[in-house]
Amino acid sequence: MNAETTAPDLGDLRATVAQACRILAVEGLVEGTLGHVSVRAGDDRMLIRCRGTDDEGLMFAGDDDVRLTDFSGAIIGPDEGYRVPKELPIHGELLRARPEVNAVVHAHPPAVLVCGVAALELRPVFGAYNIPAMRMALEGIPVYPRSVLISGPGLAQEMIAAMGDRPVCVLKGHGITVTGERVEQAVVRALNLNALATVTLEVARAGARAEPIPAEDIAELPDLGSAFNDLTVWRHHVAKARSRGL
Ligand SMILES: [Zn+2]
Repeated sequence: MNAETTAPDLGDLRATVAQACRILAVEGLVEGTLGHVSVRAGDDRMLIRCRGTDDEGLMFAGDDDVRLTDFSGAIIGPDEGYRVPKELPIHGELLRARPEVNAVVHAHPPAVLVCGVAALELRPVFGAYNIPAMRMALEGIPVYPRSVLISGPGLAQEMIAAMGDRPVCVLKGHGITVTGERVEQAVVRALNLNALATVTLEVARAGARAEPIPAEDIAELPDLGSAFNDLTVWRHHVAKARSRGL
């Protein structure tokens, strides 16, 4: 989604954000009611998953849970009892600071959490198993070292500074922040980061230390083309969620 050239259809975007929440829940990246997804919806406007009075958690997120707000978190129009996430500044400040970012995922995946707490570095420990995740690790995964709730713009700006121009950031003792040009890309990047953390954790649990992948093997791995690959993976997860009635 390029917000400058394409007028966003808010209904479609709202449905995509809700779907993203359900996929993150099915895949175990969010638990219960904690975590949120947003998408840019114009100048100083975003759609973000909020919490209603009868909220049932991300696995059951519906289109109505995705509300239009400004980047500071004011709901546009009647709030109908919905409250914005306490960590909304993660989304608003990222969308404000980085024009190339159109979508933001914030989640608390247990595997990433444990790796962070155990100081297990997320390195390129595998190759063709998951090439996008390997490349993510190869390019470096920044860590925001504070375990605070990112509830204000100052803390969000600290996180953004730690993140630099990377699409992902591990929030130590907390979770992850992942960006994308579109929601689908941000979700698939979050899934890849989770896959990397899961393997890293399993290797450590086995009492082993993974050897680095040889440079000649990395050089052999093809570039899958992010956009194509992301949408293919996204479609799979949409179908998987649908097969579970979600
Ligand atoms: Zn959080």
